[in-house]
Amino acid sequence: MKIWKRGDESRAICPTCERRTDVVFAERTVEIEEPVPHSVENVLVAVCRECDAIAMVPHQSTPRLKEGLAKAAGETVNTRIPGHLKDILFLVSEVLASDVLGVGRPHPAPVLRTLLYEFSKDGAFAERVRKHIDDPLAGGPGDQDISIKVPARVLSAVDSTAKRMGMNSRAEVVKRVIATAKEDILDRHDKVLEEQLRGALVAVG
Ligand SMILES: [Zn+2]
Repeated sequence: MKIWKRGDESRAICPTCERRTDVVFAERTVEIEEPVPHSVENVLVAVCRECDAIAMVPHQSTPRLKEGLAKAAGETVNTRIPGHLKDILFLVSEVLASDVLGVGRPHPAPVLRTLLYEFSKDGAFAERVRKHIDDPLAGGPGDQDISIKVPARVLSAVDSTAKRMGMNSRAEVVKRVIATAKEDILDRHDKVLEEQLRGALVAVG
C-alpha cells in the first residue's frame, strides 16, 4: 500500500478541471456534506496544482474521515450535575492525565465518554453503577452543566442499558458513573478501568 507524505507529487484526474493534472499532497480541511454536514481538519489530500481544489483523497486518509463522521454524527448530551460530581470527574481526569501525558491537564470529556461507553458494554461495570442508587455522592441538586458529544451508536446502547438497570434518565446515568469512577479510580485504583480511561486520553493526546 502506497503511503503518501506531505509534499509528494503525482498526477490525478481533477474533478474541477475535469482532466489529468499535476497534484501535490498537502493537509487540508475537508468539507463533507453527507450524511451530516461537517469538516475534518488536517487530512492529507492531493491538491490540484492548477486550480488548488482537492483532486483526490488517498486511501490512507479514509479512516480519519470516518472518525470525523463518527464525531459529527454524535449527539451532544447536556446534563446538569451537582458541583461535587464535576469535581470528581476533573480529579479522575487529572490523575489519569498526569500518568499519561506527564502533565496534570484534565480532560474530563473523554473520561466521561469512556465511562458511558464502559457502562453500555461492560455488564459488571453497569452493575456497579446500578448499585450507586442510594449513594449520597450521586445525589444533590444538579446545578452545573456538563456537555459531551457521544457517538449515536454508543448513546443508544447507554439508553438501553439504563432502561434494563431501572434508571430513568441520562442525568441519572451520568451521576452514577461518576460516583462509580470515584470509588473505582480514586479509592480502589482499579487497574482495568484505569487502563481503559488512559487509552481514551492517549487518543486525545
Ligand atoms: Zn484542478
